[in-house]
Amino acid sequence: MRPPICDLCGERISGPGGGLVSFLETPHDKAINKRFEEPGFVGHPANLFWFCQRHLPAAQALAHLRSAEAFAKLRELPGQD
Ligand SMILES: [Zn+2]
Repeated sequence: MRPPICDLCGERISGPGGGLVSFLETPHDKAINKRFEEPGFVGHPANLFWFCQRHLPAAQALAHLRSAEAFAKLRELPGQD
């Protein structure tokens, strides 16, 4: 697992409010995630991302998209720096 840092804004997630969002798995993600079935393989699923409290609701609303599409939309949200 990656440390809990928002994949959109880089904010460290501490306390309640932030969380993980699993986006639609692409064939590329699937190939990476397949390695988790191997015994002893430790890592972070390719389609799983951290979001801070500010970005989690918007990210959850886009979870039906592939991560690249979801991030493109999230970056267009008003108030993003
Ligand atoms: Zn954030």
